[in-house]
This record gives sequence, structure tokens and C-alpha cells, in this order.
Amino acid sequence: MKIRFYREPRSLTVVSAILSIYTVVAFHLPAFRAVLDNIEKGFNGAFIFASVAILMLAVDFFFYYLVLYLGRGIGKYILAFTFIADAICLYFINTYEVLITDMMMGNLFNTRYSEASGFLSWGMLYYIMTLGLAPCIAIFFTKINYNSFKKFLGNIGTSLAIVLVVILMNMRNVLWIDNNSTQLGSLLMPWSYTVNSVRYYNRMKKLNQKEILLPDAEFTTDSKDVCVLVIGESARRENFSLYGYHKETNPLLAGDSITAYIANSAATYTTAAVKAILDHQPTNKLYEILPNYMYRQGVDVVWRSCNWGEPPLHIEKKYTHKLLKKMYPEADARYDGIMLTGLKEEIQNCDNNKLLIVLHCSTSHGPTYNEKYPKEFEVFTPVCNTVEVANALPEELMNAYDNTIVYTDYLIHSVIGILKEIPERRSCMLFVSDHGESLGEDNLFMHGMPMKVAPKQQYEIPFIVWNSGGNEELKLLDEVEQYHVFHSIMKFFGMRGPVYNEEFNIFR
Ligand SMILES: [Zn+2]
Repeated sequence: MKIRFYREPRSLTVVSAILSIYTVVAFHLPAFRAVLDNIEKGFNGAFIFASVAILMLAVDFFFYYLVLYLGRGIGKYILAFTFIADAICLYFINTYEVLITDMMMGNLFNTRYSEASGFLSWGMLYYIMTLGLAPCIAIFFTKINYNSFKKFLGNIGTSLAIVLVVILMNMRNVLWIDNNSTQLGSLLMPWSYTVNSVRYYNRMKKLNQKEILLPDAEFTTDSKDVCVLVIGESARRENFSLYGYHKETNPLLAGDSITAYIANSAATYTTAAVKAILDHQPTNKLYEILPNYMYRQGVDVVWRSCNWGEPPLHIEKKYTHKLLKKMYPEADARYDGIMLTGLKEEIQNCDNNKLLIVLHCSTSHGPTYNEKYPKEFEVFTPVCNTVEVANALPEELMNAYDNTIVYTDYLIHSVIGILKEIPERRSCMLFVSDHGESLGEDNLFMHGMPMKVAPKQQYEIPFIVWNSGGNEELKLLDEVEQYHVFHSIMKFFGMRGPVYNEEFNIFR
């Protein structure tokens, strides 16, 4: 019987199915543990668990079938490599409780052999010998019947169809997926190390990308100026009472003399939208962005951030959230308010006539809106605090989101307050959100839909301006774009040059 087993060719369908089941049982247990930790009891929790299981079986089957069919002999070596790598990753996950993220892959690539060899242990060897080698031996000793091309299409098509159906049936759990995908993705071999290696590589490539320098400008004024650009996160226009929302979400700004322009974002996700706020024109290329350009032209530039996703910055004073925490240990690091700590002193201590400050907020980023503001800003109650936001009561979800806008109102008002206390400088404040947010309209949540099909909630943004010279110095415009930021700040600092476009300037 044993000899017959090896001699008789096995259908590729059966081999792929067995390898797929083996992978799920041997290598995906940490991912299933993570799923169990992050679902709530009840039908939907069980549904998510079953969906992940079916999804993984189908995806693994698809992968193995594809690699073996197209790769033939070489395919076996590719799979052998993945099984060994799977075993090593599982060893790390189980032993060190690490997540195989892009940062982790970066650490791995940057580790010299001497450091890596410190990790070699009997434990790792045990994982490789048992979990890794067993499937290798099985595929090399099994004769595979590769079947017809028609069957190949049928099997590939069926597994893809299963994946699609599972995804479609989980549309209502899209928030849960969004919330947990990074963790799950980093626990599922071989996707974790392959996808995250590519992501790490792309990130490095982007960081090293050379930007196209813009032509120099000259300063036509020597007044002492400060401009604070506040970049909002997922703040949508229709929930600002300044723009007519029925709930009082802007109690403080209502008393400030501000101008609220109508604007649409250039994109619905952070990296592209933040780039648009900092770019001088719509472009896919990497031109010198506002802070880098200003810095090179001699403006003092300060970047304070509780967020991420901006193009590479080439300035001296870049304060990440981690750095801010170190600089101001007394501040509450959970909220964007930490960016205001020491801000007044920073402006007062600056001896450059032109000062640009950028604050990159994260306040309205979902899905846990209720965790993004201090308790005293919980004006609208009750709020939802479930991890499965699609199952939250719509009013509770909206209340939590509205409270983030109330907190944003406070942040913007505070920046204006700080600027008013420094009368020796002309000052202005621009608040522009990166994109909007869906909160259950058409059963959509969060953001990131392609612009062409995105609902208005995801791109209708607030564009709020305060100017120490008063509103008379601001143009009356029906609508502005994120590209107005670049040219308006140039105008404010009295800069002239070939790149300046009066059409995108809000100042008179
Ligand atoms: Zn964003």
C-alpha cells in the first residue's frame, strides 16, 4: 500500500487541498487566536471566524495550485522554501510574540548575520524539522498529476469565486476587517513575510525617491509672519455646525472671526490627500512639497505630528508623536492636544521672520472615535465603544464622531488663541481636512473609496481660515481646493516666483 501511495500520481487538486488544510492547521493558529480575541460573542463573531477559516483555505489552495501548476518542478522548490520560512516565522511568533509586519521585515533585512545567528536555537530547529520539513518531504515524494488546462481554470476560478463570495458576505464587517487586517496579515504565513517584505521595499524606495525641486522664490516683504497649517484627519464637512450641521459641534469657532470655505478633497485616503494639501498642483510625481520648499527658501519650518503618511520631509524640526511624548512628558499623549504643548514658546523663540508650523492631526480617525478625545469633550451621548462598529447603533456612532469634531473645534480655537497672544507677528491659521468619512450612509464606513465612486461624505471637507489681519484680507470664493494651501501660504509670506499661481490664492 505504501509503495502504491508514492508511485501512483496524485491529482493536483487533492495535493493542493491537503497542503491547504495542513497550512491552516499548522501555521494559522496564531491568526485564529487573534480572531478569537477580537470578536464579540454571538452569531456575527462566529460568522467572522468561519469566514476567515474558509478564506484562508481557499486562498492557500489557490496559491498552491497556481504555483505547482505553473511552476511544475520549480514550483515544488518555491513551496518548500515557503514551508521552511512559515515554520521559522511561527517559531518567532510563538516564542517572542512578535508580529511579522513591514517594520519587522525591515529589522530582519537590516540585521547582520552575527545578530541573526543569536536567534538560532534548538527550538527553531525543532519547528523547521517538524512543521517545515514534513510538507517538503510529502511534495517531493509525491508524483503529481497536473491535470488539464481546463481543470486548472476550473479550480483556480472556483477558489477565487469562494474568496469573492466570502468577502461580499462580510461587507458589513468591513470595519472589523479594517481594524484587524494589519494584525491578522502579520500572523498569516506566507502572506505576512512576502507582502510585508514588498511593503518594506516600497517604503524604502519611496523614502529614497528624489523629489523634483521647484524654482526659487524671492521675499517681497520682511514682516514677521507665522502661519499655522492644521491638517485634519477624516473630518467631514457636513458634521461641522460652521457649515450648517444641526448639532452644535463648533461652539468655540462660532465666536472666532473665521472664514469657512467650501472644499472637496483631491483623494479619499490619507497619503494621497495629505500630498495634495502640500503640493503646488495636481500631480502623481514627487515635487518638492510645501514644508521642504519653504525650508529651502529660508522659512523656519516646524512639523508636529500625531499622524503619519506624509511624503518624505527634509526639514530640521520634524517632531513625530514619539518625539513629542519625549519632549512633553507631562502632556496627555493620547490626544492631538499634545501638539499644542509648548507651541506658543516655539513661536516666540523663533528668530526667523517667516515661520511655518504644520500640525498633522489624527482626531477623527475611526473606527474607535470615542477614544480620540478627552472625556470632557464627550458632549453628545451615548457613544458606541464596540470594536465592531458596523453593529453599533447609528446614533451612538454619530455621537462619538461628533465629539471628535467638538474636540477639533477646541484644537483649532486654541491655535487661534495662541496666535492672538503673539501680536508681534502677523499670523494666520488654515485648517484643512485630508478627506471626509462615511458613517454608515449607503452601508459604507470610514474612507478610501476610489474618487470616481466615493460618496460625498468621503470628499466634502472643511477649509477654515483665520487671519490676524481680519476677514477683509481674504477673498470671497465659492469653492477652493487643497492646492490653494500652497499658493496662499506663499502669498501670506510675501513670496514671488515662477511657481506661484494667483488663481490658487485666498488672500487679497
Ligand atoms: Zn486620513
